[in-house]
Amino acid sequence: MTGPLVPPGPLSHGTELNAVYAIARIVAETYDTEAGLDAVFRLSRTIFIFDVVSLFLHNEDTGQLEPSYALALGRGRSKEADLAWGEPAASEAYRSGQTVLRHEDAGPSVKGRERRRDYLGLPMMVHGRCVGGLVFGRFGGPSFPPEHIRLAEFVAWHVGQLLENRRMARRIATLEAQRELARMQDEFISTISHELRTPLGFIKGYVTTLMRQDTAWDTETRMEFLQIVDEEADRLRELIDNLLDSSRLETGSLGMTKEPIHVGTLIRDTVSRTKSAYPEMDLRMELADDLPLISLDPTRVAQVLDNLLSNAHKYASTGPVVIRSYMNNNAVKIEVEDSGPGIPSEHIPRLFERFYRVPDQTVNVRGTGLGLYICRKIVEAHGGEIGVASQPGAGTRFNFTLPVHVLAPTVEGEGHDV
Ligand code: ADP
Repeated sequence: MTGPLVPPGPLSHGTELNAVYAIARIVAETYDTEAGLDAVFRLSRTIFIFDVVSLFLHNEDTGQLEPSYALALGRGRSKEADLAWGEPAASEAYRSGQTVLRHEDAGPSVKGRERRRDYLGLPMMVHGRCVGGLVFGRFGGPSFPPEHIRLAEFVAWHVGQLLENRRMARRIATLEAQRELARMQDEFISTISHELRTPLGFIKGYVTTLMRQDTAWDTETRMEFLQIVDEEADRLRELIDNLLDSSRLETGSLGMTKEPIHVGTLIRDTVSRTKSAYPEMDLRMELADDLPLISLDPTRVAQVLDNLLSNAHKYASTGPVVIRSYMNNNAVKIEVEDSGPGIPSEHIPRLFERFYRVPDQTVNVRGTGLGLYICRKIVEAHGGEIGVASQPGAGTRFNFTLPVHVLAPTVEGEGHDV
């Protein structure tokens, strides 16, 4: 249907002209269909009289005309009742593609003027296709005169445009989501390829060097090269483990094997492992005396601690790092606090997302942005929460909780240590 952009007929009345242009402007400017429809119909009522209006749209899945919007502006009628009354006129307009006028007598049970009802059904056109019917209802007569019918057709055409705007907005949102997904996949592949290639490059380079026939390496040099190969192979394995963990955590298929563990012992073990991995790190421990025995997966919780400590080493190597633990309500709280460069506040909300890395900070630091995501998932699988507080220039404090469920406090050493 090619619709009238301005209503046909002489526009002698100033109010009418203003309303008509206001309707056209709303349609051009609004993407909120519900609010747009409200505004259009309220304005319409200033140029022709109706008591109720309802919109029925064809549902492609059910093959039915279904009510999608209703507004009662005149003699008080509930929306539901108005919808039921408008349906025959909407169906007829939808089926025939023509404007239809129906008169009804509600029967003697309805007293007064409201017994007489007039419905004006208009086919709802979107993008050249009839997608439903729009119905204006008027109670107590007189019926809709021809000039009102033309105005109603003008309104129907604009309502069609509003629906077209909605269709376009949804299409744009879908396309944008698809483009964002493709971009993230590309980014993921390039990050992962880079991260896999770096250790592989070291391994290949040193092994090739060691295999050269024309050079005899002394034992010390050979050991040094082999040590690099060994470390890089570890790194490769860690990376692949992280990738597998993250995809299992995403699908919920990474189970936790929980057992009663002393939190203090778990932290002490992690700290001694960290100290031997990073002998130069100034790592301090502040553990409360009353840390309890709790049910947890020791390997996975140790992985969280390892991750936070290795991040402190990677991103905040300058000052001391403190690992702290104490009871807080019914949970054990564990904090890892560094005095490094901190994290700008705009990055904090996304820090625990998969593959998220703070752009400027990570130029020279290897990583995939998986570590904190894995930490969050593990902590959540224990019923806890993970968070971070950071002040750029002053340091960062990661913290997480492990709820203490039922296990009674015991003397350290009675539980299963890690
Ligand atoms: P990765 O270290 O592999 O990049 P993580 O998920 O462990 O991934 O960390 C995400 C990002 O958070 C890091 O890239 C880094 O920008 C930032 N970050 C993590 N820990 C710290 C820290 N202690 N100080 C400053 N920035 C940090």
